[in-house]
Amino acid sequence: MTCVVCRAAVTEPVFANAWEKTRKLSACCSAACAQTFDPDQHWIPSTRPAAIDHMEETRLSRVGGERLRKGDRPGVVVRDLLLGGVSPSAVRKLLTATKLGSESTDIADMVPIRQQGWLGRLIYGAARAAGPDERTPEHVDDARRDLDRWTAHFARP
Ligand SMILES: [Zn+2]
Repeated sequence: MTCVVCRAAVTEPVFANAWEKTRKLSACCSAACAQTFDPDQHWIPSTRPAAIDHMEETRLSRVGGERLRKGDRPGVVVRDLLLGGVSPSAVRKLLTATKLGSESTDIADMVPIRQQGWLGRLIYGAARAAGPDERTPEHVDDARRDLDRWTAHFARP
């Protein structure tokens, strides 16, 4: 496990707040690191999320596609998918589809995920207000950079 702030090895995980303590994704190595923790900047978790099976991945990707279609910011959707265990290659495919405007519109896929507790809330992003369409090419490029950061981070030994 590595510290999400300074990337040092974590022996005794410290979390920034009660929410992070529940999520257990963003461990810090010390109280000092926990104090400088910024969820926007330190969003790559301390350990790679557990792998999910192909069916689950397909389903989560469809939900992500639906969120993108509804105008959620691509960077936020990409982070949620990666944290949910969707593989970078599947996320990349979705981003490419978004740029082409051909992402899934199958709303039926979204129903089960709403009933899945914390993971559903994580993916569905319950607290996020629907704003204007954020699928501008710039936002898609930002999301792609986030994806590249993730891939580079977990490619390291
Ligand atoms: Zn640290």
